[in-house]
Amino acid sequence: MNYDLLLLRFGEFTLKGKNRARFEKAVLKHVRALLQAFPQAVIQREFGRLYIVLNGESGEEMIKVLQKVFGITSISPVKLAKLDVEDIASKAVALMQELNLPEEATFKVNARRVWKEFPHSSHELNHLIGAPVLRSCPGLKVNVREPDVELRLEVREQGAYLFCEVIPAAGGYPLGTNGKAMLLLSGGIDSPVAAWSSMRRGLEVECVHFYSYPYTSERAKEKVIDLAKVLSGYAGHIRLHLVPFTEVQTAFTQTRQENLIITLMRRAMLRIATRLAEKEGALALVTGDSLGQVASQTLQSMNVIGRATNLPLLRPLVMMDKNDIIDKAKDIGTYDLSILPYEDCCTLFIPKSPATNPNLWVVEKIEASLRELPTLIEEAVAKTETITLEAGKDVRGLDDQAINEDWF
Ligand code: ATP
Ligand code: MG
Repeated sequence: MNYDLLLLRFGEFTLKGKNRARFEKAVLKHVRALLQAFPQAVIQREFGRLYIVLNGESGEEMIKVLQKVFGITSISPVKLAKLDVEDIASKAVALMQELNLPEEATFKVNARRVWKEFPHSSHELNHLIGAPVLRSCPGLKVNVREPDVELRLEVREQGAYLFCEVIPAAGGYPLGTNGKAMLLLSGGIDSPVAAWSSMRRGLEVECVHFYSYPYTSERAKEKVIDLAKVLSGYAGHIRLHLVPFTEVQTAFTQTRQENLIITLMRRAMLRIATRLAEKEGALALVTGDSLGQVASQTLQSMNVIGRATNLPLLRPLVMMDKNDIIDKAKDIGTYDLSILPYEDCCTLFIPKSPATNPNLWVVEKIEASLRELPTLIEEAVAKTETITLEAGKDVRGLDDQAINEDWF
């Protein structure tokens, strides 16, 4: 359809008085970054809202991108009319006709005179615009209580804005307005959803992934890079820390404590992630754990594993059902990647009966008996490679670079 502007509405944070300016600025920065792909577009700020003047750019494409911006609750494509009843009426008619409404559809006009100098009141405008629309759309009826379409008109000093669609957007808090966290990103379904949920609460997220080459393949690592790339579409860019985990893992397998190996590995992951978080100024760790889903996610396991870090350990999915997590993963575009069958370092070493009720004392004893463990953890931190994935750039290109840098 032929629109002139997009109207972006800010979300719940507008309620928080003193933070509002900071939050609106964060949204603006995010929008600006994403609009680099639309060079003709111009941003206009207004109290509690943003307008994007399309200047010929595709509104449809832009909506797809802007729907990912946290802190924006909804988007309306707007047709612009001159401050003149005739022009407003003809644009209103065009807008309604473009909707291709079924016979017998109902509508109402909801006019707001924001600019008080305009010679007609809101009430008068409802009639002045409603009548020509009714005349030119046969079958259309008025229903002021529950219309199928609410045609909104806002008369502002700079023009008359007409719109009827309200497209839901990501909502939540603007990116990075609630601090930074380090997220443990596996190749699975859950952790990318945990990342999205964290970003939506205003966290800036850096990701850390543990790989065990040669037990895990290059493709497994590429898959995680691809997932981080999808996440970068929501964040503008994502930093991904790739940690070589083979040595730590081998040390644990040599203890022959099969049933506790997942517990031990998870604790080591948290220790390494904590070190990276400290280095990067992140104040929390995030995982994709969901209560009861697997052996390492029983309450007892969470207790023993969680004690390996002093940082707050956030588990955004902890009370969610798997089906809901899957639906979310589909919505945010990570599901298809997540179900690719490449092995993860933990799935490879899953014992026949992993402990669902590990004993903290025993686990600590095993760790203490592994004298080289602190050194191995330090080495893993030291050998960590960091890449930055940017929204809108080709992942394959980055992978080529990865191979050159001898990551694998
Ligand atoms: P996911 O779908 O996120 O992999 P899961 O249900 O498969 O979760 P686990 O494999 O037990 O559960 O992992 C629990 C959490 O531990 C993950 O959500 C992730 O945060 C973290 N994790 C597991 N493996 C890795 C890894 N190789 N690198 C980084 N984080 C990991
Ligand atoms: Mg997993």
